[in-house]
Amino acid sequence: MRQEISAAGCAERIRSARRVVALTGAGISTAAGVPDFRGPGGIYTTGRYDPQATFEIDGFLRDPAPFFRFTRDVLGLVADLEPTLTHRFLVGLEAAGTLRTVITQNIDPLHQRAGSRGVIAVHGGYWTSHCLACRGRFSLDELLGLLERSPVPFCSCGGVVKPDVVLFGEPVYAMEEAVAAVAAADLLLVLGSSLAVYPAAWLPEVAECPVVVVNRGPVELAAAPDRFFADAELDPFFSEVARELGMAIPEPD
Ligand code: ZN
Repeated sequence: MRQEISAAGCAERIRSARRVVALTGAGISTAAGVPDFRGPGGIYTTGRYDPQATFEIDGFLRDPAPFFRFTRDVLGLVADLEPTLTHRFLVGLEAAGTLRTVITQNIDPLHQRAGSRGVIAVHGGYWTSHCLACRGRFSLDELLGLLERSPVPFCSCGGVVKPDVVLFGEPVYAMEEAVAAVAAADLLLVLGSSLAVYPAAWLPEVAECPVVVVNRGPVELAAAPDRFFADAELDPFFSEVARELGMAIPEPD
């Protein structure tokens, strides 16, 4: 039997923890306007992008143009998005010294934009890119400059410049770091992830501490004595958690 947890119960768990780690998925960013992959209106569901041509490394290496059409859309979309209340709640918890690490599956920059410092982005992100030929590195601004000039960004050496986003068929980033962070945690918060996709699906199995999962919709994690679940929208839930903790949530800049 799955054990449910309330916002007050979650606050109580956080209050007695010293080394909290948060694992975040698409659900933390949907309230900011970032579409998720598999939900209603998701990037897969709408059929706007052919998944194999756009999101698989083999497709990218054959023809990177579909990936860069997607990239333009995404970068245009996220340019003006503000982090959600839950992103800012995690910044507050980090500032209080309770939260050690945010492990995110998301490629949007909202954790960084909110001000989180200890972020492990296992699927990478757009803030850095590199040339596939000479391995030269590019900032996000440099990538945007190249994309203004041509549909596919090229390095001065002639190589394709690939954003450091993990495509299907590529290894995820910093898994050892993520596993070490989870193994050292005394509370793991899973926020806005259905835990359907590796490596997120696997990290709660590594945890030797209580796990609290807050997600709207089904979650693929088996019931266990130290696992607690809330089927809830994140922002109202963590607004209440913050109130219970007497914690001020940092305002957006
Ligand atoms: Zn190059």
